[in-house]
Amino acid sequence: MKILQNVPEVIFQKGCFADLTSILAYVEKKHRLKRPVFLVDHVFKNKVSLPSPIPRSSSEMILWVDTDKEPTTKQADDFTKIMKELNPDYIVGIGGGSVLDITKGVSVLLNNPGSCSDYQGWDKVKNRALFKIGIPTLSGTGSEVSRTCIFTSPTKKQGINDDHTRFDMVILDPTLTCTVPAAQKFFTAMDCYIHSVESLRGTMINPFSRGYAEKALELCVRYFLDRPDDGDLMTASYFGGCSIVYSEVGICHALSYGISFILGYHHGEANSIVFDYLDDYYPEDVKVFRKMLSTHNIELPRNIMKGVSASDIDKMIELTYLMEKPLTNALGQDWKLKLTPEKIKKIYSRM
Ligand code: ZN
Repeated sequence: MKILQNVPEVIFQKGCFADLTSILAYVEKKHRLKRPVFLVDHVFKNKVSLPSPIPRSSSEMILWVDTDKEPTTKQADDFTKIMKELNPDYIVGIGGGSVLDITKGVSVLLNNPGSCSDYQGWDKVKNRALFKIGIPTLSGTGSEVSRTCIFTSPTKKQGINDDHTRFDMVILDPTLTCTVPAAQKFFTAMDCYIHSVESLRGTMINPFSRGYAEKALELCVRYFLDRPDDGDLMTASYFGGCSIVYSEVGICHALSYGISFILGYHHGEANSIVFDYLDDYYPEDVKVFRKMLSTHNIELPRNIMKGVSASDIDKMIELTYLMEKPLTNALGQDWKLKLTPEKIKKIYSRM
């Protein structure tokens, strides 16, 4: 039996970020909370400004998150250490998927012993996490609604997959995504497109999941091939995330973790690189993906495997094999017979 959970409180409104002070006042009164710590993407410190300032926060209660690389277990452990001294009642994460994932991970670690890597895997968290609010500034990862936060450790890249990672509240303001550079916006949105495809074409699909995935897919395609609307894309991201909560991702995600781990590509770009070689698994969806690429003049990195050592390729295969649930979803219980290490190597060698 699978018990399905959603984020309990969601605000979706263009421009609502400007009302953050009153939203937080509501949250604090309702949930008897006082002291927030803000985890904010460091791009908002210097390069890009938020549409309105973060309210009521003295500088020491804002922690800037370096998002140049994918989130690491060390980053989560370091923030947890700092947070323990600040002793907040709740955390507000403002940023893309990386910041949201770190917010989720830290909220778990503040109320559970050990380090981040102890919880990578499925359903390992014992205690309720600290109250947390997610405010996405990028659309696509679905991290705002999923029960997953993904971290790279020295030995692997894997998510903490657990109900305790889920946000208590999510604030969706599409105006926050207006200034995202085009390529970054595209690759992040493709994460959502791929979530939807993998959910729809997988063996774990069910009517609940299908409803979310079909709408997310439709909104993504509409954004890139017909009529762009940031509200649509933010909704797609949320729905795509809901669809994988009730099913799973698939082959593309399983293969992309190795690419991010060894070559450092961000999740959305790594997924896009892989998806272009998956005609055998998702033929029609790959065609639409290529149409979106060409319409927006997006160039995928090529020959990325040139110079990658044999031992690194073995590591990439090992990481792919850790993704048991997604591969079961994509190929069925006998996935190991269908996706052998040799086959994985062959797919990687074409990239
Ligand atoms: Zn993803």
